[in-house]
Amino acid sequence: RKCLQRIRKTRHLNAYITVTEELAMKQAQEADNRLLRGEALGPLDGIPFSMKDNFCTERVETTCASRMLRGYFPPFNATVVQKLLDQGAVLMGKTNMDEFAMGSGSTDGAFGPVRNPWSYSSPYRTLSPGTDLDFDWSITGGSSGGSAAAVASLSSFLALGSDTGGSTRNPGSLCGVVALKPSYGLLSRHGLIPLVNSMDVPGIMSRSVYDTAIALDVLQGRDVNDSTTVHVPDSPAPLPQEFDIRDLCVGVPKEYHAPGLSADTLAQWTRVASLFERAGARVHEVSLPHTQYSIVCYHVLCCCEVASNMARFDGLQYGHRSAVESSTEAMYATTRHEGFNDVVRRRVLSGNYFLLKQNYERYFVKAQQIRRLITEDFRRVFSSGVDVLLTPTTLSDAATYSDFIEEDNRTRSAQDDVFTQPANLAGLPAITVPTSLSARGLPIGLQLIGQHLQDRKLLAAAHWME
Ligand code: GLN
Repeated sequence: RKCLQRIRKTRHLNAYITVTEELAMKQAQEADNRLLRGEALGPLDGIPFSMKDNFCTERVETTCASRMLRGYFPPFNATVVQKLLDQGAVLMGKTNMDEFAMGSGSTDGAFGPVRNPWSYSSPYRTLSPGTDLDFDWSITGGSSGGSAAAVASLSSFLALGSDTGGSTRNPGSLCGVVALKPSYGLLSRHGLIPLVNSMDVPGIMSRSVYDTAIALDVLQGRDVNDSTTVHVPDSPAPLPQEFDIRDLCVGVPKEYHAPGLSADTLAQWTRVASLFERAGARVHEVSLPHTQYSIVCYHVLCCCEVASNMARFDGLQYGHRSAVESSTEAMYATTRHEGFNDVVRRRVLSGNYFLLKQNYERYFVKAQQIRRLITEDFRRVFSSGVDVLLTPTTLSDAATYSDFIEEDNRTRSAQDDVFTQPANLAGLPAITVPTSLSARGLPIGLQLIGQHLQDRKLLAAAHWME
């Protein structure tokens, strides 16, 4: 009830697309009864959570913040949704995002932009009706901005986002919450409406590394509906018990001193690196030379997969259908024109261009080769004894809405994801942890990147940093 109340009182944030109030009350009642009988299902029983609106939820509208999916009520739950429900967690609603998860601001969805809770002097602040909202508020980052805002403003204890190029870590960092992108293959993508199948992972947002570890325990594991998932042995505790910071080797990649890095963020990065060192960890500068190509590489691969993935939205099977019925072709074309925003249309167009017979080798194959080189960079650094890499998560704190929308969309994405995309290209686990506030009083997070399937070690290091 408290969480529902907070959802109502923080409506100005525009964090939710759908609030599943009735369902939530019913699930909470059931959890309460189990608790009273001493039959709680586990640590998540009765815990309010929310899901980004690109995870399928049975009989609950799932829109990807697009007109295209208005009125789409999936007949099944995504595996990660089902796992949380099976543990008694309570679904509060579906959160706002950039359309089809393309973006890094949560400003481009069909339901309007999400506002950063930290814009209102305190993230916990609720506003009475009639309060003036017409000031230059800050964005949440994206594309899972609604999930981050929900956790930061205390209307959900846990929220899932999706992370293809940084979409969980970026808003996590800008909203001051912990956000994990697990190793590719650890969590099932079944029922997550795909953006880039070879990079998508469900991401976990919560208020602490410990809570994140509990959720990871519940969510991970093989799924017969997703052949890319891997089996991992059960761990005895959410966080490793014998973790000694003096055994840790932390790499600081020199190429991550990117143009545009703010003085605040750089100062935090340096401060935390020296905290690790003073506590007895070994801290080394390392080199990941192909980092500079990761943005272009990501965008070529992303557009190619988008061109293919978006083909299913034809007006026949899901959601929106245009009224134009002069021919099947015309119906397809107008449905897609009416349904997709210009960001989606631009990517479909670019993807089809990169995949043209005469361009395929030049763009798609080249990008795949560069992806391999980026992965090799990480492999080399980790095999030299480095356990985790410490980097910024974003270039700076959250931009104001007016600054953000002024810049060209493509440039924006390109700048914002510079620290987060390489981990997606290489399938590595990465987490952002809030470390301080900027001079403007907005959160700054730092990122740790770990070795593939070493998510526990990553969480242990993040827990130390918290
Ligand atoms: N900003 C990136 C993009 O627009 C990442 C999106 C994501 O991780 N979903 O593609």
